[in-house]
Amino acid sequence: TYVVTENCIACKYTDCVEVCPVDCFYEGENTLVIHPDECIDCGVCEPECPADAIRPDTEPDMEKWVEFNRKYSEMW
Ligand code: SF4
Repeated sequence: TYVVTENCIACKYTDCVEVCPVDCFYEGENTLVIHPDECIDCGVCEPECPADAIRPDTEPDMEKWVEFNRKYSEMW
């Protein structure tokens, strides 16, 4: 899965939301988040993010961000 990380805080761009083929972005408290079970790992959102906030969970220390994305995408 891909996850939204701290650079998204207060970001006003939604380029990522527009390109996602499965609509798995949700509104968090002060970031967007990606639902980790709905993301199909296509990667098209990553280069669209002007804040470089979207990372693959295969990078080191991403567990907390996966949980953060899950928490806020299931909150509403
Ligand atoms: Fe959506 Fe693909 Fe980004 Fe996952 S990697 S959030 S499916 S655009």
